[in-house]
Amino acid sequence: NNQIKVAIVGYGNLGRGVELSISKNPDMSLVAVFSRRDPQSVTTINTPVYSINNILEFKDKIDVLILCGGSKDDLPIQGPQFAEHFNVVDSYDNHAEIPQYFASVDKVASKNKKVGMISIGWDPGMFSINRLFGEALLPDGDTYTFWGKGLSQGHSDAIRRVEGVKAGVQYTIPSTSAIEKVRSGSRPTLTTKEKHARECFVVLKDGADAKKVENEIKTMPNYFEPYDTTVNFISQEEFDKNHNTMPHGGFVIRSGISSTGVNQVIEYSLKLDSNPEFTASVLVAYARATYRLAQKGDFGAKTAFDVAPNLLSPKTSLELITEIL
Ligand code: NDP
Repeated sequence: NNQIKVAIVGYGNLGRGVELSISKNPDMSLVAVFSRRDPQSVTTINTPVYSINNILEFKDKIDVLILCGGSKDDLPIQGPQFAEHFNVVDSYDNHAEIPQYFASVDKVASKNKKVGMISIGWDPGMFSINRLFGEALLPDGDTYTFWGKGLSQGHSDAIRRVEGVKAGVQYTIPSTSAIEKVRSGSRPTLTTKEKHARECFVVLKDGADAKKVENEIKTMPNYFEPYDTTVNFISQEEFDKNHNTMPHGGFVIRSGISSTGVNQVIEYSLKLDSNPEFTASVLVAYARATYRLAQKGDFGAKTAFDVAPNLLSPKTSLELITEIL
């Protein structure tokens, strides 16, 4: 059996998305799900669940571990921890801390001859690649990223970890007038606040102090502090009824001028009915690339910038050249 053997660490939205996505990739097989919770309490679709404490017993049975924990509290620990023994891929999305996180994974992965593929998904991930293309192809220009309207898993995760919060979601809302200005080629200067607002819906635990929760959310560095953030407190019933899907998407636009001063605009957009299912699909393609880099002995921490596109595809180079070049 020469399938790439994959396992999942952490079974939430993303973990489930990865389980679903692997079934669409016949060159890969899913060996196990590992969880910090009692394995009996974790219900997957059809993959065996083991305690994270037993993961080293699987050291020789797994080619790549896909880390599906939260960026705020789980990955900063789990990334370096598991890169000691496994090739790993994760979706770490706290942009401001990526350089430090990269360094912490690189140190362990390089030393132990493993690949640590970090910050994979759509942003960071596919959007990052498109920002890089924009800058490299149109050096005289400006890059604009807009998100949403959509539910941000990273920000929702951060809300749920605030003391007193029972349930919470966050929607990012892009400004239509700002997008139109950018598309026109006028290259406006837009502040963070002019581009997006953040809207939160929170269910409080019994006895929690609403003012305190609201303040803690609004002042959270990197996540909420730089934005116009509104916090709405709602009932569990309303939460279950109106906030149970996870759509997302957005735009990366590069607006620039080429040699004779003519306008050139590049636009990449995503319209996602399910953010975790799409992010999971990206993680799975990069798990294939991670395995191939490890086979080549190209160890250490990597990002989407380090992966040649053909490493993502199950097809051979000749098939790719013949069919889609
Ligand atoms: P979840 O909150 O659903 O899951 C995070 C972890 O929490 C899981 O790995 C799991 O670990 C634990 N968990 C899950 N469900 C439960 C439960 N019922 N009770 C107790 N613990 C539970 O987060 P998501 O899967 O939605 O997102 C994970 C991360 O993905 C986000 O933090 C975000 O940073 C990142 N992301 C990145 C994107 C990108 O484009 N780069 C896009 C989207 C998301 P365990 O099984 O060990 O308990």
